[in-house]
Amino acid sequence: MQTHILGFPSIGSRRELKFALENFWAGKATLSDLEKTAENLKLESFRTQSDAGLSYVTAGDFSLYDRMLDTMFMLGLVPRRYTFGDMTKAEMYFAMARGDALRNLAALPMKKWFNTNYHYIVPEPDITFRQEPDFSKLTSDVSLAVEHGYAPKAVLIGPATFLALSNPVWIKNRWELMDELAEIYCAAIKQLPAECKFIQIDEPILCTELEKEAWLSFIPTHRKIKDAASDRKLMLTTYFGDPLLNMTPIYESGYDVIHLDITCIRHDMKDIISELPAHMSVSAGVVNGRNIWKTDTGRAKGLLDMLERRLGGERVMCASSCSLLHCPVDIRNENRLEGTLKNSMAFAVQKCRETAALPSHMAGASGTAVQYTAAKTEIATDRSPYSVRRKIQEETLCLPPLPTTTIGSFPQTQHIRSLRSRFKSGEISGETYESGIKKEIYDNIQRQIKLGLDVLVHGEPERNDMAEYFGENLEGFCFLENGWVQSYGSRCVKPPVIHGDVRRVKPITLKWIKYAASLTEKPVKAILTGPVTIAKWSFMREDIPQEAVWEQIALALRGEALELEQAGIPIIQIDEPAFVEAMPLGIEMHEHYFNDAVRCFRLVTSVLKDSTQVHTHMCYSEFDRIMPHIKRLDADVISIEAGRSEMGVLESFRRSGYKSGIGAGLYDIHSSRIPTATELSGKIDRILKYIPAEQVWINPDCGLKTRGWGETLSALQNMVTAAVLMRGRLKKKNEKAIG
Ligand code: GLN
Ligand code: ZN
Repeated sequence: MQTHILGFPSIGSRRELKFALENFWAGKATLSDLEKTAENLKLESFRTQSDAGLSYVTAGDFSLYDRMLDTMFMLGLVPRRYTFGDMTKAEMYFAMARGDALRNLAALPMKKWFNTNYHYIVPEPDITFRQEPDFSKLTSDVSLAVEHGYAPKAVLIGPATFLALSNPVWIKNRWELMDELAEIYCAAIKQLPAECKFIQIDEPILCTELEKEAWLSFIPTHRKIKDAASDRKLMLTTYFGDPLLNMTPIYESGYDVIHLDITCIRHDMKDIISELPAHMSVSAGVVNGRNIWKTDTGRAKGLLDMLERRLGGERVMCASSCSLLHCPVDIRNENRLEGTLKNSMAFAVQKCRETAALPSHMAGASGTAVQYTAAKTEIATDRSPYSVRRKIQEETLCLPPLPTTTIGSFPQTQHIRSLRSRFKSGEISGETYESGIKKEIYDNIQRQIKLGLDVLVHGEPERNDMAEYFGENLEGFCFLENGWVQSYGSRCVKPPVIHGDVRRVKPITLKWIKYAASLTEKPVKAILTGPVTIAKWSFMREDIPQEAVWEQIALALRGEALELEQAGIPIIQIDEPAFVEAMPLGIEMHEHYFNDAVRCFRLVTSVLKDSTQVHTHMCYSEFDRIMPHIKRLDADVISIEAGRSEMGVLESFRRSGYKSGIGAGLYDIHSSRIPTATELSGKIDRILKYIPAEQVWINPDCGLKTRGWGETLSALQNMVTAAVLMRGRLKKKNEKAIG
């Protein structure tokens, strides 16, 4: 049985790529220094795969910044504005990735790669502007493997996925380009070195509901590519979901192999393979490429054996579920983990070995899956309906119309970060740290009073990261020392690991929020990160169902919320920025997902008194399809990212008859531009055309932690000025109406 992985992390086990990129950008290293580091990393990845005993090494997956960006060059689809005559290819590449201040070019936007935390650069194909396709990167990577004596498998992002994820600003119908792309893919494949006998075309878009045009163009496009591959083996790769909706185009493509992400397949594999055309093999992605645990070899081997019995050994391949890009590189760099815990983990290097060894593993019993009887705690029912709560809250909170607030965090200055790192390294005492953080909270409250905001926050100075901070203060989490995973370009994150039952053993945020509340007469809003977001931004345990972990986190947060309420905190916000991002790809799973996600949110909030106002925040701006679930959260106020199509968002809320408070992000915190008061009052005016004034809240579109203080204060001041102005107008209008 042949074995392979879908891709290896580019970043390096010691984040070599990150440092090489940063040195290059800072002018401390030349392009050829950077390319040398890249070549070493590619060779290291080939060596790891070959030493592990895999049948192929994957080539073409390495990227200096991002594979979608690489694909734009391969296809000759570099947007016109990045192609100044005097720019070198490297200058264009990094201008698209990060912007070019000298030439006044903004970077292309980024988006999350399906439901992962990896960000890709969003292509902007243009029907009227084309460059020469450029296959040099692909060819040279594959040739590098050949030169060093490895058996390469070439990897390309498929045309349907590329187009589906692109932003059609310059083109009416993206699928018009399919024919042309097919030709370019054919040309790319034809000039691969003859030694390359296996080609992987990634089409994860097959795990979603395809647009009709994509469906129609898929088969002819891929048939052409298949012809161009002639005697090379061609694999169509799906991952992160179940492609069951799209089996027809898969079977009709003529490809030799279909790769399935077994960690996401909900249907019986026997049914899937019973329809498999005789020419097609299955690559079974049994080694989870998105998590850090060792594979349950008994279970994986059981599946491989079943496939082998039905299809024969030559028609089955053993593989990682997706690219290993989404897990850290090497467990051997973890020196602080407790022995048994470390022993239960496998990172990319170890997963290569697992994949290679699985076929010869003795069939055996499946691992130690804990029998989990989900507690399924009931949602409390004593909270009154919104209309009743609203009156009570109006009396206790006494807020003006169009109340102003922020999303929670204030600038995380260098001073705060150094305070935290000195505390963690033991350089300063717990008391010094605590008084340092309190000083920040004190200043934050004074600033907000001066600005005239209505609902204040403590500013989250104690939080390194909104998910990690909660992990650090709950039982059941552990932290890796070098478990870096690429988030985009040179940026890496080190997600917390949920390895045991989650429990709250001490208050998490209570001390800081109580202190903030003691400094002002105005209402202070406590901010908690919600269960789905904490789980989504961590590595999850696999021995119990995901919703059981959510429930444990929810119950821990409920304890915190109740104590905050007892301490007299009148408003509690549960942030769920990952509420939509954590959604499974397959639409048939959405209902189930949202039921669990909503239930866990309400486990936290449903025990609170009517007088406690529940807020939620989501960094999201396309609510149309999920409106029923948003309503079921039963929050008193939701703040959202209005995005560029702000009116579209409000229209979703209006149309669905949403009755509670809405804070449509008034300005974009990702930009350093300071919006004027006139501009903002204009925006409020437009919001009021969609949403009755009683429902409108005024706030920025997300937390302010990445901004500087100067811009933050100016922008917030303009926001408050705009709100006050609009309040005045509303009052006049009402008086007129009455008079
Ligand atoms: N409360 C968080 C903050 O203000 C929310 C961040 C987010 O939505 N990503 O930073
Ligand atoms: Zn946000």
